[in-house]
Amino acid sequence: MFASGLMPSITRVLTVVGARPQFVKAAVVSRALRDHGDMNEVLVHTGQHFDNNMSDVFFHELDILAPKFNLGIGGGSHGENTGRALQALERVMDEERPDCVLVYGDTDSTLAGALAAAKMQIPIVHVEAGLRSFNRRMPEEINRVLTDHLSSLLFAPSPAALKNLDEEGIRGEKVKHVGDVMFDAVRIFTDVASRRSQILGALDVSPGRYALATVHRKENTDDPEKLRQILEGLSHSAMRVILPLHPRTRKRLSEFGLQPSAAIEIVEPVGYLDMLWLERNAAMILTDSGGVQKEAYFHGVPCATLREETEWVELVDGGFNRLVGADVDAIARALREHSFPTDVPNIYGSGYAANEIASILGAFR
Ligand code: UDP
Repeated sequence: MFASGLMPSITRVLTVVGARPQFVKAAVVSRALRDHGDMNEVLVHTGQHFDNNMSDVFFHELDILAPKFNLGIGGGSHGENTGRALQALERVMDEERPDCVLVYGDTDSTLAGALAAAKMQIPIVHVEAGLRSFNRRMPEEINRVLTDHLSSLLFAPSPAALKNLDEEGIRGEKVKHVGDVMFDAVRIFTDVASRRSQILGALDVSPGRYALATVHRKENTDDPEKLRQILEGLSHSAMRVILPLHPRTRKRLSEFGLQPSAAIEIVEPVGYLDMLWLERNAAMILTDSGGVQKEAYFHGVPCATLREETEWVELVDGGFNRLVGADVDAIARALREHSFPTDVPNIYGSGYAANEIASILGAFR
């Protein structure tokens, strides 16, 4: 495909998205593809996330291209979702005959898109390639590794990601280090959020006087003891803790009969602009989200990660993030003692990764 010298001309891009973090990434890349001119993008939404506050709000707020296809595949197990999406995507790709298939990150939709394309011999472009947690119990890790190995063009966000790919024999012309498209999103949308978001008033919180938390990673939500420890750790906060709760976590809390303490304020998941504004003004952030770890760094807010490892290792190395796992004491300590280093290098590029991706794709003609 691209790498073997058979350079197809790319004018028709088929993008597969399905989950919240992909909407944010696709928003900035689609915009860059549009700005780049004669590139025609078709968006497919697998339906992995389908609620208004997990999906629709992102399309409205971020002005994302309306999906031409909505596959309505959500709510099942990992295998079921991946299998059904693979089947449906094959039909879509057969109908659309794109020059390449663009996938983001590490969800079941990413893997389904990559598998469907690979079997039809359509070149795959993977944005956010090369991330590794080296924890194969994470469904996301399986999705990333397989997608990277199937891809013809890989856009890596960091030197660590490049190194991971190299160590798996994925190297050369097909690997491009462009920086992180989520930095583009923060650069573009924080200003919009500062003008439009009413979230601080709605929650009656003052800048710098609250902690922001998110929990949705399966290893935390599906283990009652870990979830209990996280809630207990957060309850040691001297500040209010705002916790926009992912639907999976909400479901598990009620299944496990866990009641958060009064210090923790559970709210529905918020739209991206409100999330950016909550992050920007938080005293600190505690999260098991990949994207939120980086957003904390982009906003200059200290972060504690509710996991044992992270794919974004450079944030830990630089002192911007610390790993606290699902451990009551470590979480309570992070809430008491947190700071943000004064020396802040541009770890994830310049905030124009999406433009670079569009130019590289545009050069295939
Ligand atoms: N996010 C959001 N509202 C929320 C929680 C998260 O808009 O209530 C955004 C967040 O700012 C980031 C993205 O969703 O851009 C991260 O998605 P998520 O944490 O679901 O996935 P991960 O990054 O772990 O793959």
